[in-house]
Amino acid sequence: MEEVLSIVTKNENETMLVGEKLAKTVGKGVVFTLVGDLGAGKTHFVKGFVKGLGSDELVTSPTFTLLNVYERGKMPVYHFDMYRLEDVSEAQELGFDEYFDLKSLDGVVLVEWPEKVEGLINCPHIQIKIEDIDSSKRKIVIASNGGEK
Ligand code: ADP
Ligand code: MG
Repeated sequence: MEEVLSIVTKNENETMLVGEKLAKTVGKGVVFTLVGDLGAGKTHFVKGFVKGLGSDELVTSPTFTLLNVYERGKMPVYHFDMYRLEDVSEAQELGFDEYFDLKSLDGVVLVEWPEKVEGLINCPHIQIKIEDIDSSKRKIVIASNGGEK
């Protein structure tokens, strides 16, 4: 992973704004991983991202469904949360791999807890890492794997 940029946010709204601004710069066929502890702000980043694509849909953590799709913006957002995944095979059974065929991807993929599906995200992607500095400050580090697997 090569670091592209890092930003410190002071509250959830600023984290959402980072997601919102980033969303305005991307086209379809882009995969993001969201790394960070519980409560880091991964889902808030996605809330901003969906808003940035022009959708007013309510973004919630898809903890119990694995995948939420937001389709009312400029392009679909496939929001995965792998936190409760017991085994990589569960994701494979759900056809998770299909989302990483970037040429046929019609939207953007965002994956919370990519550590749970280690090895399955085998395409170029952008990693968003959110670290707690204190109760309200977060360091957001944006990195790219530069097309490596
Ligand atoms: P995750 O998806 O990483 O588990 P959430 O986005 O669901 O995290 O929740 C983040 C929590 O941290 C929220 O309660 C939010 O209000 C709080 N928070 C405090 N400061 C920040 C910040 N700078 N950025 C994002 N969330 C923050
Ligand atoms: Mg979350």
